[in-house]
Amino acid sequence: MRMQAMTDKLKRVFTKTLPEEMRQEFETERAAHTLRICKYLSVVVMVFELFNMYMMAFVRDGGLSVHSHRVYFVLYIFLFTISLAGFVFCLIFEKDVDRHAGLCLKLAVAESGLFCLWGTAVTLYDQRVTENVSVYLCIVLSVSVFVSYRPWEAMIVLGINQIILMLLFPTFQPAPTNNIGNYTNTACATIMAVLIAAMRYNNGLETFHSRKIIVSQKEKIEEMNRKLHIQVLTDELTRLYNRRYLKEVMPQVWEQFQKDSRQVTFVMIDIDNFKIYNDTYGHQAGDDCIALIAGLLKSHLDMPDGHLLRYGGEEFLAIIAGKDGKAIADKVNKARLDLEQRKLENRQAPFPYVTISAGMVTQTLDPSMRLEHCIRQADILLYQAKQKGKNQVIIGKDTL
Ligand code: GH3
Ligand code: MG
Ligand code: MG
Repeated sequence: MRMQAMTDKLKRVFTKTLPEEMRQEFETERAAHTLRICKYLSVVVMVFELFNMYMMAFVRDGGLSVHSHRVYFVLYIFLFTISLAGFVFCLIFEKDVDRHAGLCLKLAVAESGLFCLWGTAVTLYDQRVTENVSVYLCIVLSVSVFVSYRPWEAMIVLGINQIILMLLFPTFQPAPTNNIGNYTNTACATIMAVLIAAMRYNNGLETFHSRKIIVSQKEKIEEMNRKLHIQVLTDELTRLYNRRYLKEVMPQVWEQFQKDSRQVTFVMIDIDNFKIYNDTYGHQAGDDCIALIAGLLKSHLDMPDGHLLRYGGEEFLAIIAGKDGKAIADKVNKARLDLEQRKLENRQAPFPYVTISAGMVTQTLDPSMRLEHCIRQADILLYQAKQKGKNQVIIGKDTL
């Protein structure tokens, strides 16, 4: 039972994966990270190999006339060449890693495989004179830390090197030795390296997954907040903005309008004889009528940089920036005529159809002006429209 649990755990280490839709992005991130590391690592290795070549050719006794020095020299050239190739690959792909993520990762695995083979070759060649395996140990552990392997890739690359090493140890040793230590040490390092690579991959994968979940939750919360905020600022019956919008949002808008010295028009609109309408047809019909007129106003007065809101029961306020007063006056009048032509009955009223009256004023804003004052001016003009017999638009004298 315990054995089964352990095998399952080990299996999970090697088969961990992400939901389909996240895989590509994860691979791209992994490829970008690998390219970044490979680029710097290649330069370090190249410099190191140039130094080794110099030492071998000019400093070590005998220089390249000694056979073993020539072998090491060729091995350094080999490592220098694959590092240079890796560096060039990084330069080519780093600009377009999104499109070539898969290829980049495969090349990184191939290059690191060659890197390990180099370590194996040097270690085997070292066996002629020493039982030291430090080059191999150093290489497999570095590779597991710096290269982004999938667990099974690490197992194949490092496993193959370990097998080559074990098979060829006796061939390169000058006399049969009893050095079991080299077998166990290298095998241990290889297993550790595979586990390190697997842990790094799985940690990266889990971190990526958690990050994605957090980001998507955050987006959902932000979207909910945004909807909630809109709901709080919207009048339920008319779907226009409400008084809270005037109090909470308009001050910032107003500040910007003032900074930009915008020309702003204020229109206060009120349904005529609405009390009579309510009394005649009932509250529900009154609600429907308010909603209908709100829609009609929206169709005429909804414009960029315009803010249309339900100011009170059957009153509406439009604050519109950047249009000349005349154009807006035309639109308000069109809305009024549009309603009149619909002939919505208000049979008990002096004029037997539903109508609206409006007062409007246009101001070029300066820092001393106050929003409430401008609204009040439009309201006074609306009052005049009512006094003059309703169903009309009164425009402030500076407007046209
Ligand atoms: P005027 O032409 O001078 O504007 O007269 P009016 O009757 O329209 O104005 P008044 O202020 O006397 O009456 C407004 C009415 O609007 C009173 C109220 O019952 C009605 N009202 C306010 N809010 C609502 C609402 O949300 N739904 C309904 N159905 N009626 C409302
Ligand atoms: Mg009214
Ligand atoms: Mg009113």
